[in-house]
Order: sequence, then C-alpha cells, then structure tokens
Amino acid sequence: TTRRIHNFNAGPAALPLEVLQQAASELEDFNDTGMSIMEHSHRGESYEEVHNEAIALVKRLLDIQADYEVLLLQGGASLQFAMVPYNLLAPSQKANYMMTGSWSEKAKKEADILGQTYSGASTKDENYAYIPVFDQIETDPEDAYIHVTSNNTIYGTAWQREDFERMSEWSAPVVVDMSSDIFSRTLPIENFDLIYAGAQKNLGPSGVTLVIISKAMLEKSTSITQNVPSILRYNTHADKNSLYHTPPTFAVYMLKNTLQWIENAGGLTAMEAENRKKAQLLYNVIDESNGFYQGHAHPDSRSDMNVTFTLPSEALTDRFLQEAKDLHFIGLNGHRSVGGCRASIYNAVSYESCKALRDFMISFQINNQ
Ligand code: PMP
Repeated sequence: TTRRIHNFNAGPAALPLEVLQQAASELEDFNDTGMSIMEHSHRGESYEEVHNEAIALVKRLLDIQADYEVLLLQGGASLQFAMVPYNLLAPSQKANYMMTGSWSEKAKKEADILGQTYSGASTKDENYAYIPVFDQIETDPEDAYIHVTSNNTIYGTAWQREDFERMSEWSAPVVVDMSSDIFSRTLPIENFDLIYAGAQKNLGPSGVTLVIISKAMLEKSTSITQNVPSILRYNTHADKNSLYHTPPTFAVYMLKNTLQWIENAGGLTAMEAENRKKAQLLYNVIDESNGFYQGHAHPDSRSDMNVTFTLPSEALTDRFLQEAKDLHFIGLNGHRSVGGCRASIYNAVSYESCKALRDFMISFQINNQ
C-alpha cells in the first residue's frame, strides 16, 4: 500500500482519494462495457451519460437553470483569456480589467491584442497584496465587460463575498476567472455573466476547462464573432452541447466524479465551511507568531485557497521547506514573485493535512526563533 502525501501543490493539485479510487476501479471495465471510459467513443451512450451528468452537476451545485449554458472546453484558463475578448469585446467598446495579480495581467494582455481595454482598479502598488476597495473601483456602464480574477493563486488574495454581492451594482457584464476557487464557496451566480476555470485545482485533472455563460452573453457574442474561427466561438460549443469536437473524455469523467464528491459532501455550503476552517488554522498560526510568519495578503483580502507567508530569512525559508519535505509535506514553496511559502488548500486537501501543517509550523517556529 502507498502512503498519500500532504499535497499543497498550487495546481495541478490534490484530488479526493475516493475519486482516484473510483477511477482505478473502473479503469479496465467501465460499467460492464469491457473497456475504460477513455476507450469509448465520445458519440457513444456511455460517454454521453458521463458528459451530460457533469453538466447537470454544475447546474445543480450552482442552482442554475435555463439562463446559463455550461461548456466543457479545452485550452485551460489561458485560452479563455483570448476567447473572452474574441467573443465579448466589440470594436466600439472597452473591456475593464481589475488588476489583482499576474493572471489578471495575462488576461488583459490577450484582450489588448484584440481590442481596447483599461483598468478600473489595480493593486500592483503593493505587489498585489490586497483586493481593491469596492467604492474606489472605476467602472463605466459602456464597458464591454468587467473582468475579475476571483482568487489570486500566486498572492493568496480573494475577492470577498461582500464584493461579489456588490457586483450587482455594476451595470456592465461581469466575467470572472475562478480557476483557483471555483466551487470552494457559495456564489451569487446571478451577478456573473461568464465564469471560467481550468479544472486542475478544484474540479479534477488538467485538460478540461469549465465555462458558465449567460444566454444574454451568448446572444451578444453572435454579432461580435463574425470573423472569429468557429472553434473559438462560445456559440459553436453551446449549440453542440460541448461535443462540437472530441472533448477530453477522461478529464470530463474525472470532473464529473469530483463534482459528485462535492455534492455528496454537502455541496458548496459545506465546501465553504470546511475551507474556512482549514484556512483559519493556518492564518491563526501566522497571526499568533509574533511576526515570525508574515502573511503576504492583507487580512481583509485573504484567500481560503492559497495561504501565502514569508519567514524571517531566506535561510530559514529553505530550512522550513526542507524539513517540511522530510515530513512529507510537498508543494509549499511560494511563487517567485512573492517568495516565501504558499500552502494551496483546495477542496480536496483535508482538514487533517492542514492541521498537520499547522502543528509543523508551530514547532518549526519554537525550534528556530
Ligand atoms: N488563472 C488563474 C487564477 C490561475 O491560477 C491559473 C493557473 N495557475 C490560470 C489562470 C492559468 O490556467 P491554465 O494553466 O489552465 O491556462
């Protein structure tokens, strides 16, 4: 038997053990068909059932019905950086990008290639350690859309629930990159017109990208996409139930099983409560460390998915990471643009793993200060 490690990878990241075990048990013979799901035709009944159940689960978890289409695409969140402006940015309009980290920068950069953009808010002045103050954000009713990165994976900041609620005050459509916090918490879905996320943090393995788009946005995009290749149009995929071409069938199967695991665990309300408890364990250590651990994110902008912190010196950081590794904690090194450490604690990272990390952080401080 193998020992599962404490996996704090930023993405691809930990998957629920039950989901892995189910995949293993069905690998050679899926549902008495004598072959794995990977070997089925994407036009066959077995796969189509998996595909449709994945879409149905997204709708059930978010409680969305007829107003939205759920798309299962490829190309990662990075392709969405391009597809969003291709489909939604009309030549006469400007897209408004909220700059809260390097993923926001990359998203805006793609839109800049295709059309006009501006930034109604940026927190680059403090190396993206906080989320903009809502009342200071500039928006224009004429914006083609307002683009938000809900969770900033590298910096460990997240737009808070109150911000999500107040986005109803914006009169332009809201587009959200939820790659690193999708389905980790409940959402006022009616305030969003398009949500996209690569699956490899909270939803399954890499290879499939989830897009949730309002019918109104699909309609709007028809007049913008006349010169856009078919495969890059949302309507192409919506019209064909995301079977316009061969989907990443195994990744969709894993996504379906991961969503099923979320639903069985109590859905987004349960995920949110558990994730808050997990994050609080680590933030409490930081806050009670008398400055030994310094959080990168301002307390009111903290993410429950990525906990970022630094230690007093580079030597101590190296020792911390080495000892962590010896104790089978992996993925704790921070991104080079922040330095220090980062614990990514997505849905599938257990409370027990977070508690073990908390205990290690406390004892490391006692032994090294
Ligand atoms: N946006 C965010 C917030 C991310 O965290 C990432 C991946 N780390 C991306 C976009 C890029 O995703 P992908 O690799 O799927 O293109």
